[in-house]
Amino acid sequence: MFRSHTCGELRPAQVNTTVTLAGWVQTIRKFGAITFVDLRDRYGITQLVFNEQHSGQLESNPLGREFVLQVKGKVIERSNKNITIPTGEIEIDVIEFTILNKSVTPPFTIQDDTDGGDDLRMKYRYLDLRRNAVKRNLELRYAVNRSARNYLHENQFMDIETPFLIKSTPEGARDFVVPSRMNAGQFYALPQSPQTFKQLLMVSGYDRYYQVVKCFRDEDLRADRQPEFTQIDCEMSFVEQEDILNMFEGLVKRIFKDVKGIDYSEQVERMTWEDAMWQFGNDKPDIRFGMKIHTLKKPTSVFLNKNDQSDLINGANFVVFDGAESVLAITVAGGASYTRKQLDDLTEWVKRPQIGMKGLAYIRHNEDGSLKSSIDKFYSEERLKKIADATEAQKGDIILILAGAEERTRKAMSELRLELGEQLGMRKKEEFKLLWVLDFPLFEYSEDDNRWVARHHPFTSPKPTQISTMIENDPAIHDAANYLSHPYAQIKANAYDMVLNGNEIGGGSIRIYQRELQEKMFAALGMSKEEASHKFGFLLGAFEYGAPPHGGIAFGFDRLCSILGGSESIRDFIAFPKNNSGRDVMLDAPSSIDDTQLKELNLKINQA
Ligand code: ASP
Repeated sequence: MFRSHTCGELRPAQVNTTVTLAGWVQTIRKFGAITFVDLRDRYGITQLVFNEQHSGQLESNPLGREFVLQVKGKVIERSNKNITIPTGEIEIDVIEFTILNKSVTPPFTIQDDTDGGDDLRMKYRYLDLRRNAVKRNLELRYAVNRSARNYLHENQFMDIETPFLIKSTPEGARDFVVPSRMNAGQFYALPQSPQTFKQLLMVSGYDRYYQVVKCFRDEDLRADRQPEFTQIDCEMSFVEQEDILNMFEGLVKRIFKDVKGIDYSEQVERMTWEDAMWQFGNDKPDIRFGMKIHTLKKPTSVFLNKNDQSDLINGANFVVFDGAESVLAITVAGGASYTRKQLDDLTEWVKRPQIGMKGLAYIRHNEDGSLKSSIDKFYSEERLKKIADATEAQKGDIILILAGAEERTRKAMSELRLELGEQLGMRKKEEFKLLWVLDFPLFEYSEDDNRWVARHHPFTSPKPTQISTMIENDPAIHDAANYLSHPYAQIKANAYDMVLNGNEIGGGSIRIYQRELQEKMFAALGMSKEEASHKFGFLLGAFEYGAPPHGGIAFGFDRLCSILGGSESIRDFIAFPKNNSGRDVMLDAPSSIDDTQLKELNLKINQA
């Protein structure tokens, strides 16, 4: 027997028994002829005591950090107990030991507060993974995985693997491609998601599918993205949107319970995409706090269904507001006491290039009921009072106002709201608030591609009443100047996102399942019949053989883990992550391949 116990297992109950442990040397402390060693494995740390009888052996074969030891010894009660660790009441009086393997000095300390920087830890990730902090993250990840699988299994979902070497799946990113040796000059694409396969499985009758699956997207890696990441991918047949929302809020609630011990018994709140944009300025609002955006003025071309309050703002001869497309405000409770310095800091904050605003106006609603504003010169007290009413400001509050082009200003206001929420301690890590955002637009205008594209993916079903407004092969889908007046700006989809604390953790839709409608959708995206059949002939064909109504969702597994673990970074929850340039610094990948391989693959590298 290699070991009788783990390093996290022994307690006073085992005192006087003889045990065998195996693990890594964490620390060595010498006191005269006695040596204390902390032995570590995945389960914990146990203190070993080497008495003088071992000093000869230790002198000829000194121990070092991260050596692998096998130790036989007697469990004894510690005189100097360490109550901070579970094994701290006992220690092992070593009878005999074997050095199973030596270690060179590790490049950083394998401790919670390591001295290793990010790059070094990634290069030696196998050592970093020995650290408690990282191990706890992987344990949490496994707990989320187990919980999700249990729930889905109990609800008749079947885990079915789908291939990685496929043809492009349109999720809006660039594909990673793999050259085919056997088919010279041809390439597979790695899946951006198993989207088309899970839909085909529905056609095949596997009415509840799931997979914890890798997805690959070749995009520029913004701070917290990985080129390969994991989804909990799900699909169901014979369902309406309501069935999906219920099933999958059940999944997330179960994960909360199993992993965090949280009973999330209330119904998950719901909000339309329009309301999310209108009230919070983005499609994944953090609703742990209020501070909603008030639209004082807006361009007529957007949010057509929403009230316009331009008369509150226009006509005061304040050129900045008169000339602005949008004027937006938020009310900060208790903010009337902000100092000049605090307001200056906030003004600088909104002027940063990432936010891009020219300035920040304010109206203080003082405790004595008076209104004091940075725009006093233009707005009478009576007008300011009307604005205070419109923004629901009470005595003691401050109203912060931004003005400019609609999209940029709404985004800036959304960022300012989050920043203030952070500053005011309203975004607590241990508070979890879920939200469904519903009725997303079917299309969105892509400035990069200069055309309307599918916002989710082209298999998402439009709201049935709006199908008639889809236009096949309309040249105006490229009209950047007037895109907001194109009918596509108004068409909504049966698509939904699940949002947790201001992060999108999952998204999906009810799908198109009739060939005609799918063809209409492709044509509405400007795809010719030939192109549609070349790219998606297999799916269109399958829809002719009795495709059932279906819908689904995919959760970003890495992100969900990082939020539950209270971390900003998904990398902390991935065993072997890539850096921001998409490199695995441990493997040094990607790397070049030799000429023989290139030749076999029929590839030539352009040296230029
Ligand atoms: N395949 C979609 C995605 O990766 C999710 C879905 O529609 O189920 O975002």
